[in-house]
Amino acid sequence: MLNEIKDKNKNKTGKLFVISGPSGAGKGTLREKALNDIKNLVYSISCTTRKPREGEVDGVQYRFITREKFKDDIEKNLFLEYAHVHSDFYGTLKADVMNELKAGNDVLLEIDVQGALQVREQIPEAVLIFIAPPSMKELEKRLRNRHTESEEALKIRLNNAAKELELKNKYDFIVINDDLERAAAELRDLIKNKK
Ligand code: 5GP
Repeated sequence: MLNEIKDKNKNKTGKLFVISGPSGAGKGTLREKALNDIKNLVYSISCTTRKPREGEVDGVQYRFITREKFKDDIEKNLFLEYAHVHSDFYGTLKADVMNELKAGNDVLLEIDVQGALQVREQIPEAVLIFIAPPSMKELEKRLRNRHTESEEALKIRLNNAAKELELKNKYDFIVINDDLERAAAELRDLIKNKK
């Protein structure tokens, strides 16, 4: 897919970066820091069928869409990748990513492991970075302190976290978020060096 763009737009194609990791590993904060620190790095806003959390705004954190619309978009082949995560659907629109890459911008996706592996199939040049917590114990502590999930939702997230961690070796790089500033600097340097 990327080759088509390269052919049409020699030397101007941006690079695609994907970060994944369990909820509570600090992906969101690291993503914000990377976006603030790195010029020409843009975030691709995903679609989801999950309900907005307090303070979330449609079109900012996500495009909040219905299951019907999501299924319709799958049928129309509009997604670069999509996955069923924690009982909702999440997906990245092809057009969003391709338009930015064509414009010469680097693109950052923050998606789950199933999605990341689909991206690698579609765009082998994509750089996959796994954000890992220092330990499962620390992850549980961070998730509980966030107070955003019910006990049941928390259990689902912890269960999924263990499964996601098993796949970390499929990524090009692993950043351990033991200390936020250190991990942010590591991620920033990694992206800058690969650009
Ligand atoms: P949350 O509901 O906490 O915002 O996100 C839950 C999970 O869905 C996170 O692991 C996040 O990385 C993942 N996610 C967010 N957007 C996408 C997407 O577009 N595609 C996929 N595959 N996963 C996503």
